[in-house]
Amino acid sequence: MKKSFIDAQTARRLSCKYPTPFYVYDGQGIRNGIRALNEAFSWCGDFKEYFAVKACPNPFLMKIIAEEGCGMDCSSYCELILSDSIGVRGDRIMFSSNDTPAEDFEYARKLGAIINLDDETHVAFLAEHGGIPEEICLRYNPGGDFSISGSIMGNPGDAKYGMTEEQLTRSVSALMKMGAKRFGIHSFLASNMTEPEYYPTLAGILFELAVRVNEKTGAEISFVNLSGGIGIPYRPEETAPDLSYIGRRVKEKYDAVIVPSRIKKLSIKTELGRYITGPHGILVTKAIHVKHIYKEYIGVDACAANLMRPAMYGAYHHITVLGKENEACDRKYDVTGGLCENNDKFAVDRMLPEIVPGDLLAIHDAGAHGYSMGYNYNGKLRCAEILLKPDGSDELIRRAETPADYFATFDFCDIIKPEFSERERL
Ligand SMILES: *Cc1c(COP(=O)(O)O)cnc(C)c1O
Repeated sequence: MKKSFIDAQTARRLSCKYPTPFYVYDGQGIRNGIRALNEAFSWCGDFKEYFAVKACPNPFLMKIIAEEGCGMDCSSYCELILSDSIGVRGDRIMFSSNDTPAEDFEYARKLGAIINLDDETHVAFLAEHGGIPEEICLRYNPGGDFSISGSIMGNPGDAKYGMTEEQLTRSVSALMKMGAKRFGIHSFLASNMTEPEYYPTLAGILFELAVRVNEKTGAEISFVNLSGGIGIPYRPEETAPDLSYIGRRVKEKYDAVIVPSRIKKLSIKTELGRYITGPHGILVTKAIHVKHIYKEYIGVDACAANLMRPAMYGAYHHITVLGKENEACDRKYDVTGGLCENNDKFAVDRMLPEIVPGDLLAIHDAGAHGYSMGYNYNGKLRCAEILLKPDGSDELIRRAETPADYFATFDFCDIIKPEFSERERL
């Protein structure tokens, strides 16, 4: 059974203070997850997790994550601003972008970020826009299918990211001539992997590549970046990946490939997003309508504009009807939002206890790629984010949007009546 970290009483109390829907985050849960990750890789002297900011770009949460020793993995100008704003700069930023605009490279270089180059042609582009640093990372794409013990887990051959081994090796040689001294190698081959062999398999591929690149170019390979991709158990029957097992298995590959090689020693970096914040964020929404036609529908006040994953990927997000945790799940519902899109459903044919208008629902595992994928379709406004503290208190860490925010980009003209540019709803 999946348990919500926010109980009915707390959700009720918050819903009196802040209008539903809203996101709540469990800061201590985020800290504990990072500690388990750091512990699992403690055998590697300078292991570092760079939190994938796109998963949950809230500076209050990023501060908590940075306090636990993590850097930030950014991929755009605004993500760099977020990291800069909380004081995370220099080699505490990994800039893993693709199709990168010149001004993004320039800002990343100004901050002293580690640049992760997505393509061979970006070597010259970076030289022109920002300049070549001493330490730089390159993104590898092995092509074909990526499988783990016979099962296909992803298809890099269809992915736009990274470069071939030949391109990567040539880029390293070119970068050495331009003054680069230390190199990292990165790859991201599959996402949301609860399969514990993902990181060990990827580490094996990257360690072997590091050895070949070192042999061919003489370059110092200073780190391997395993990127993101560790999954979380969205469904109640799934189990969380065992981090200490993953750490041990990566060490076995390291001992077998790196230690006996000329490289001998390198550091390991990760760019996890989903694992860090995913389970520790819940979207709280209120049932506002019960509709019966050919099926039973529960209309809630959140919609896909608040949490897009179910509509976009058909992703499963567990739902708890707060206060009815112990009631029988004997009703079959579609739980819908109000977008004029029939895929705006948080759940389809889900067995739940009887729901009445006013019930509060917790939509689980929304802490990563949740709020951040939000949008304003149908004139829907983004909701607030709230941090729950260990002592039971709460802190508003992002206010809800108002119509004035929605219309802010018309501030150069006077089409929208002035009263709608005020913060408060009429
Ligand atoms: C999305 C992304 C991540 C984070 O992935 P998760 O699945 O959230 O762990 C890390 N690195 C890069 C380059 C990404 O694009």
